[in-house]
Amino acid sequence: MDLTVVSTFRCNSRCQMCHVWKYPTAPEQEITLDTLAKLPGGFDNLNVSGGEPTLRRDLAEMADILYPKARVLEFSSNGLHPERLVPIIKKYPNIKVRFSLEGDEQTSNRIRGEKDGHKTKVAGLRMLKEAGGTDLGFAFVIQDENVGQLLDVYEFARSQSFELATTTLHNAWQFYKNDNHFYDRTTVAKPVEKLITELLKGRKVKNWFRAYLNLGLIEKVLGHERLIPCTAGSDFAFIDPWSDVWACNVRSDIPLGNLARQSWSEIMHSDLASDGLKKVACCTQNCWMVTTARTAMRSTIVPQLPKMRPMAWVLKNKLKVTLGKPIRFEDYIDYGTVKPTPQVPRTPYLGTAHKANKLDRNRQTVAEHYPQLDYINE
Ligand code: SF4
Repeated sequence: MDLTVVSTFRCNSRCQMCHVWKYPTAPEQEITLDTLAKLPGGFDNLNVSGGEPTLRRDLAEMADILYPKARVLEFSSNGLHPERLVPIIKKYPNIKVRFSLEGDEQTSNRIRGEKDGHKTKVAGLRMLKEAGGTDLGFAFVIQDENVGQLLDVYEFARSQSFELATTTLHNAWQFYKNDNHFYDRTTVAKPVEKLITELLKGRKVKNWFRAYLNLGLIEKVLGHERLIPCTAGSDFAFIDPWSDVWACNVRSDIPLGNLARQSWSEIMHSDLASDGLKKVACCTQNCWMVTTARTAMRSTIVPQLPKMRPMAWVLKNKLKVTLGKPIRFEDYIDYGTVKPTPQVPRTPYLGTAHKANKLDRNRQTVAEHYPQLDYINE
């Protein structure tokens, strides 16, 4: 099972596609080390995200607690404080680190509302490499404003021996955002085909399956059905800063329990959890995030291996690319059927004096934590 710990909703970026920074959590209300220590071992990918996890002063202690509990411990960070990760990487060089990078300097800084963000994170990832880091990379949110730079960022990452993870616009409680819509779905989807081809050209098996994951992103962007049904609640879960456990990071109506008040086993075997699985089974949301996609792609019998469908697609198209033949994307993607998309402009915050909302320590209930009822992905 994969797990994401959303360790804080504080954030020092001002992203246009994620408004967590507007709703910071009070540090004393955030999930504690004692609560995290209650997690069992045996997770596959355990991702510490936010908000911005490096704003937690106890990040090093968090790494000490979580590192033995997972095959892979990951920090998803905006990369604005790389120095805070250096001692952690020196101690645990194989911790996976992904810094958000959204294109060239101007584009990335504008999308993320970060004055010198691009420079800081590129230098920061090199700093982590010098510290001994072995699994370092960037994470790129594909959207209208940066899709033209997707391949350049991939080539740049490759030239530095860094990984590139991709996702795309979503609406989710984790982002406090329900109006992330593509301006032009086809224009955003098409360039991803080139990335898929490049990923299949290389020798890394991981990248071949990333190619399939990106195929799913094209379907998501166009508003088509998921390639593989979701396995939220059984194959992955999320914990938010108030220690509430969720089946996924999109729907705020699938709570599973609270780790501060219950044990992990109580949560996973509760009536709430079995109700949650029923809701997941008939969920009609069109989402395809790394968490949901990666876990859905795994075999249910041997989780170390992929399911037959992604495996067959990868083998067939890897062979094609190796033989110098083009991938016939038209066999997989119906560009003739593209859902309409509401035109909601995204506001960049770079250079504006846009402040976070006043810290509200009285947000006690789930309804107060997430006042928006539904987060919709179409
Ligand atoms: S498909 Fe539904 S249950 Fe699964 S992650 Fe998306 S919103 Fe959550």
